[in-house]
Amino acid sequence: MAAEPSSFSIKPGESTESTAFRSALDVIRAVEPRVADAIGAEIEDQRAQLKLIASENYASPAVLLTMGNWFSDKYAEGTVGRRFYAGCRNVDTVEALAAEHARELFGAAHAYVQPHSGIDANLVAFWSVLAQRVESPALERAKVRHVNDLTEQDWAALRRELGDQRMLGMALDAGGHLTHGFRPNISGKMFDQRSYGTDPATGLLDYTALRETAREFRPLILVAGYSAYPRLVNFRIMREIADEVGATLMVDMAHFAGLVAGKVLTGDFDPVPHANIVTTTTHKSLRGPRGGMVLCDAELAEHVDRGCPMVLGGPLPHVMAAKAVALAEARRPDFRDYAQRIVDNASALAEGLLRRGASLVTGGTDNHLVLADVSGYGLTGRQAEAALLDAGIVTNRNSVPQDPNGAWYTSGVRIGTPALTTRGLGVREMDEIAGLIDTVLANTRPGTTANGAASKASHVLDASVADQVAGRSADLLAGFPLYPGVDLGQS
Ligand SMILES: *Cc1c(COP(=O)(O)O)cnc(C)c1O
Repeated sequence: MAAEPSSFSIKPGESTESTAFRSALDVIRAVEPRVADAIGAEIEDQRAQLKLIASENYASPAVLLTMGNWFSDKYAEGTVGRRFYAGCRNVDTVEALAAEHARELFGAAHAYVQPHSGIDANLVAFWSVLAQRVESPALERAKVRHVNDLTEQDWAALRRELGDQRMLGMALDAGGHLTHGFRPNISGKMFDQRSYGTDPATGLLDYTALRETAREFRPLILVAGYSAYPRLVNFRIMREIADEVGATLMVDMAHFAGLVAGKVLTGDFDPVPHANIVTTTTHKSLRGPRGGMVLCDAELAEHVDRGCPMVLGGPLPHVMAAKAVALAEARRPDFRDYAQRIVDNASALAEGLLRRGASLVTGGTDNHLVLADVSGYGLTGRQAEAALLDAGIVTNRNSVPQDPNGAWYTSGVRIGTPALTTRGLGVREMDEIAGLIDTVLANTRPGTTANGAASKASHVLDASVADQVAGRSADLLAGFPLYPGVDLGQS
């Protein structure tokens, strides 16, 4: 298959995709036209937006179409070949294919493709490790094979033990994720948690401090992975630290799985050979359907496979089928070009911002995202996010390390390149986008509150500047049509 500049663009004039989506919308319109209209409006919105949200992407028409069919009707609790429901042979086919593609693509011993999302994949991982390291030894001590065979007393003791384990994860303001042991998420209620962070001087992960914390705290699980850290993580060092303190190393690669799949992150920076268990989403840089996945070593496999019904609802066969399609796409050589272009684009964006005087957390990026500290513009993250949106640029606000404005207003804006790279934009466009971002932020002032003080929430941006930037971004996007093969016949 030939590599295309925008990797799922099709030849002009070819209309298979248009026919497929138009027909689907006709079928939907006959039942609830407002839904058909909203679907049509959504592609228009997405086409019009300069999407720089680091966690979003555009899945291929093949992936999208795979999700809309009768696979959705099947119950398939269990695993391939071992179902609790009859009639699952076709589900077996697609689930086995998705798992095979995942194992081959990532070089993993085992792949579990049932999780419905990244958060679900993390829950499966936590409970698999608890099953392996807390529950199984308790069953052995009691000389029984199943939890149902434990005495009431042993069961009560085991439940207390399961609820009294320690987790060490990356601090939220350093770029970690809520599901890595923070109180608002169930992981924080399940585990006694401590976090590790970055060096205030450099913004880089502080492995020395992390090692000290790990030695003292001795977690059951060491979690690595992030959603807002613009640099690489050395997973070989992470594994060394985990081994030293008897922890299981779990890596949540939800954000950067596409860079692993595309062999941009290799050696020490590829989590799969180093971690005991790896979780991911399938819809971020990996560019598949919304969903999650767990990869693990052979020892954890039997526990991971019990994810449903342990913490997951019944598997979604239509989504597992779409995962198989997306992973097949990610195994093609052109996906490696795609992954490299994501990183090249992020570097170009970072350089463009730095050249114009912006301040970036860690001074740059090695991956798919840039974290701009907007306090130099006199703005909060919330004001910057809203001002950029006025000009048609979609980003999201994010804390910076030791953020003085807290997690709601924040001082940062997170900017990622996977989506626009899918659209085909390159380093030249990224430099121009850096200019547009700088123009918006330099022309935005904080609004004032009722008593005249500077607001952290509202902002003032000249409509003429917003319009001028929006116009330029529309011109830029016009050169890179989104879903070029999909013409719904609307204006
Ligand atoms: C996005 C993300 C998740 C959650 O994924 P969902 O599919 O939204 O549940 C989990 N972990 C990390 C690190 C993420 O970035």
